[in-house]
Amino acid sequence: DSSTTTSGLTFDIRLSSQRKTPQERAELLDSPGFGTVFTDHMVTIRYAEGKGWYDPRLEAYGPITLDPATAALHYAQEIFEGLKAYRHPDGSVATFRPDANAARFNRSARRMAMPELPEDLFLGAISTLLEHDSEWVPTQENSSLYLRPFMFATDVGLGVNNPSRSYLFVLIASPSGAYFSGGVRPVTVWLSEDYTRAAPGGTGEAKFAGNYAASFLAQAQAVEQGCDQVVWLDAVEHRWVEEMGGMNLFFVFGSGDSARVLTPALTGTLLPGITRDSLLKLIPELGFQVEEGRLSIDQWRSAAESGELTEVFACGTAAVITPVGHVKSSHGEYAIGDGSPGPMTMLLRDELVALQYGTRADTHGWVHRI
Ligand code: PMP
Repeated sequence: DSSTTTSGLTFDIRLSSQRKTPQERAELLDSPGFGTVFTDHMVTIRYAEGKGWYDPRLEAYGPITLDPATAALHYAQEIFEGLKAYRHPDGSVATFRPDANAARFNRSARRMAMPELPEDLFLGAISTLLEHDSEWVPTQENSSLYLRPFMFATDVGLGVNNPSRSYLFVLIASPSGAYFSGGVRPVTVWLSEDYTRAAPGGTGEAKFAGNYAASFLAQAQAVEQGCDQVVWLDAVEHRWVEEMGGMNLFFVFGSGDSARVLTPALTGTLLPGITRDSLLKLIPELGFQVEEGRLSIDQWRSAAESGELTEVFACGTAAVITPVGHVKSSHGEYAIGDGSPGPMTMLLRDELVALQYGTRADTHGWVHRI
């Protein structure tokens, strides 16, 4: 019996009777894409007010039956996380900073008036799922097992004045290849002046499902404009750069030993990325200056045109580090450098990937072996 006990609770292990055969799994792992193939199992944990968290279990991946009046379907009380499990050269499996995801999950929970999940239960859910589905962690380069923990309101009823008193936490896992097809290909971004993602006092710094629902129209507009991704500006002046789609932005000024890096400060309206936080620690260790500050869209353009701004890249769990090659808005279009990935972008990408995939010694305690 491989059940694990955390927070005084024991995960009940109910293995799926319909596990994929090694051959079926190998076929699915051959070109998994992103977020469309799922492993054999999922973890669920229930919560009820007055009772706390209960009934943690591993069970077959499959549909969840919900009453049509389930609160989450009406008032969007739903939060989620995203992290990955990586295959290391010795065949072992490790996650990267899962404790930071646990902490962010609970900050999101507080903002959405949801109960916090004890960190050991969050981590216990991950290790329980990985113990049983570790064969689903791909071995190909740049591929990994994407882990998606989420929690939603399960009270039945349409009352809108109070948060739900019951919740379901679920963890599912999806083998993933490179996030943007075509490898490290620079993206073209669209500066969204028509829509805003997050206002002061709003929900922008929570990993709240509604933030993403509200972003799709702007993302569709970016695609209509021939761009890959939307860049969000602040909601008050529509001038300060915040973040890109599901990734944080970094700006590199100058080059060589004197290169300086800037990323938008956490003003409460952008998502505090864990990749962003890791880079804020790695960049000084590599001998470069990095600063959290602010950059307007006018400064972005003039620094790109003068050549002072040499590189721009976005970072996040799914796509690691992605160069930004071109910028487009209703006022025109311009390139960053010659539009190709710069040396700082590639250096940081290599450093991060080496840590995540276990080919560089982990001096930060970021790598959690299963
Ligand atoms: N911004 C947004 C809006 C996101 O959804 C994400 C993905 N979680 C990020 C930034 C990057 O965060 P992380 O580095 O933790 O993946």
